[in-house]
Amino acid sequence: MVATRRGSAGQEARATADREIGATGFGGRARAAFTMATVPAGSAKYIILAENLTKVYAAGKIEVAAVRGVSLAVEPGEFVAIVGPSGSGKSTLFYLLGGLTRASSGRVVIDGVDFATLNDSERTKLRKHRIGFVFQKFNLLPTLSAMGNIEIAYTVSGRASGPSGVPMDLKYLDHLSDLLAIKGRLKHRPSELSGGEQQRVAIARALITRPAIVLADEPTGNLDTKNSDAVLAMLVKSNRELGQTTLMITHNPEAAAVAGRILYMRDGEIVREEAGSGAGK
Ligand code: ADP
Ligand code: MG
Repeated sequence: MVATRRGSAGQEARATADREIGATGFGGRARAAFTMATVPAGSAKYIILAENLTKVYAAGKIEVAAVRGVSLAVEPGEFVAIVGPSGSGKSTLFYLLGGLTRASSGRVVIDGVDFATLNDSERTKLRKHRIGFVFQKFNLLPTLSAMGNIEIAYTVSGRASGPSGVPMDLKYLDHLSDLLAIKGRLKHRPSELSGGEQQRVAIARALITRPAIVLADEPTGNLDTKNSDAVLAMLVKSNRELGQTTLMITHNPEAAAVAGRILYMRDGEIVREEAGSGAGK
């Protein structure tokens, strides 16, 4: 099943559109072969396209199929949540979509680029340039201030380096700090910030590079209800106000509800799709 914004009607429409592009672009012969599984045409309009992804871990003699044939597509500007119980393969899927691990089979196309066509250093570059990661445990560097953490993420993204490099946009950082309500906290180190503040700094760090997509794995997993609500509200805001495409993974159905679209995962598969509350697009 390919999960798309408009569900099965959307799949129909997209398949038809792809066939039509195939028909006009490549003539009748190519037409028959013009399927989602083999041809990247049309994939550029998705920020993430995953096709038949599988991941099998070899744990000693036992093989664990953590992700079993997941296909999904995320359109620009969408806020998609993937929800499922512990052990259902969410984090593995997150690693696959973020290019942090290789799929056993299937493929991931990010912003029109197929991970499989890249070598390790190109893959790292794509990841740093195009993906903003948010993790459950914030992963801020403890010896740097909040500001330092954001700056170093920008530097590491490579956007500042080389002849066409662009220095970090301080006005944009100002805007993000307002949006995320961390303005007065930027000089503080992570240990001087609450969990909620740390996660908001981590979101600023993810957004500063203007990524094609923010991938968040259990972003509220370490937070109490109040901070959790605030962080979800910030993710929704960045989706609404900056048009930030966002994919959030969570075990918590209440957190998932802020998304525009919710994909349910169980035993390594996406088993169901529903509209969210629409707070996020
Ligand atoms: P979730 O994030 O939904 O809790 P995970 O993706 O972490 O799920 O795990 C899915 C399944 O894969 C689980 O059965 C887990 O034990 C297994 N798994 C995860 N990582 C590894 C690994 N590195 N080696 C072996 N098995 C793993
Ligand atoms: Mg997990």
